[in-house]
Amino acid sequence: MKQSISIIGGGTASLMLAAFLDSRIFDITIYEQKSSLGRKFLVAGDGGFNLTHSETIEHFKQRYYPNGVLDKALDEFNNEDFRAWLDQVGIPTFVGSSKRVFPKRGIKPIEVLKAIETYLVNKGVRFEFNKRFVGWKVNKTILFDDNVEVTSDINVFALGGGSWKVTGSDGHWLSTFSQAGIPISPFVASNCAFAVDWPADLLANFVGTPFKNIAICHEGSIQTGEVVMTNLGLEGNAIYAHSHSIQTQLKQKGQVLIHMDFKPMFSPSQLFDKLNKSKYNTTKTLKDIIKLSPLQIAMLRTFLTKEDYLDSEVLASKISRFPITIGGSAPLDEAISTSGGLRLDAIDNNYQLINKAQQYCIGEMLAWDAPTGGYLIQACASMGVHLARILNGDIEL
Ligand SMILES: Cc1cc2nc3c(=O)[nH]c(=O)nc-3n(C[C@H](O)[C@H](O)[C@H](O)COP(=O)(O)OP(=O)(O)OC[C@H]3O[C@@H](n4cnc5c(N)ncnc54)[C@H](O)[C@@H]3O)c2cc1C
Repeated sequence: MKQSISIIGGGTASLMLAAFLDSRIFDITIYEQKSSLGRKFLVAGDGGFNLTHSETIEHFKQRYYPNGVLDKALDEFNNEDFRAWLDQVGIPTFVGSSKRVFPKRGIKPIEVLKAIETYLVNKGVRFEFNKRFVGWKVNKTILFDDNVEVTSDINVFALGGGSWKVTGSDGHWLSTFSQAGIPISPFVASNCAFAVDWPADLLANFVGTPFKNIAICHEGSIQTGEVVMTNLGLEGNAIYAHSHSIQTQLKQKGQVLIHMDFKPMFSPSQLFDKLNKSKYNTTKTLKDIIKLSPLQIAMLRTFLTKEDYLDSEVLASKISRFPITIGGSAPLDEAISTSGGLRLDAIDNNYQLINKAQQYCIGEMLAWDAPTGGYLIQACASMGVHLARILNGDIEL
């Protein structure tokens, strides 16, 4: 007789787990509190839909905090495996200039989701929608908000993080788990915008303006890309990637100093030479020779004294390392992802809850962190596949 397995939550991690569970061994049911699957997956698809990243697996593994947290899952199912599997279900992918991996041009996010859903339907996975998990009655008997109790041989929770509540990933499970004596930590916004106290006139003239081809430097780590000046402060991939270290320091000190390199392709000494040799005045040199944007020039004029602005050495160093003070982060609900959640000491090496045998947790609900750019979806997919292979008995424990 088959074993029953209930997967609670119908997002990325859940779908990939269901896709790789052996349907000759398991009767699989996904319980989702919304009326459809994968709403956060679809939101992710609204912008650049980075399904994974194409860098080598050695580099890939280093993107995760705490170090090594995703190693086993990625060894089991890496970025190339994910691309091959997507191809197999009818979703070819391509590597963009950023080395991020996207569905082939013309394929919409809903088509990616539908391809995965169809694969699950064809293998007999059942779906129960509008089913909100509210706690445990006893042992493996779980309760839903419509008073229905379900007892299965195995329960897997894939309830997501605590941002973009509208997608269903509302994080309410945190208190349910805490009440059941399972160790949790508060959610922290990750891959989010950060607050900067911009002078009013700078903001009035430049809100919404991007800083293109810049680098954000923090704690010895350099992230090239783009950020945008917003009413709150700064948002964009170059700062999102520093979320973990910025949030850690914000917690300790209340504010954090980062640096923006306006021209990462030039060293300070190259910039100094350009400034020194120019026959134009400083502002024209910045505009026409160094090719800074009006926003960057306005930043230099606003924040530097007149003497420093006219001093080629100081100016060159500020173009390369412009200091910016971060005073906070965007609200949790606006973050692309959240760290915190289920503490890693709540589960064993096989994602099994220490205090609940045959009950497992995977995906963003666990307290790991990674930059956006494909690393989040890949992590959830890899954990799903890894757990499926553990439960199938494909991996020797
Ligand atoms: C704007 C945005 C852009 C993003 N872009 C990218 C990107 O380009 N690349 C990338 O790698 N990642 C991206 N992400 C992140 C990525 O989408 C998530 O990390 C990933 O989908 C998390 O998968 P998950 O299965 O752990 O959780 P989720 O996908 O959040 O799924 C959890 C599911 O559990 C359900 N649920 C929660 N509580 C209950 C309950 N009590 N009972 C029943 N069901 C419940 C929810 O309704 C939800 O459907 C983005 C996220 C956002 C918000």
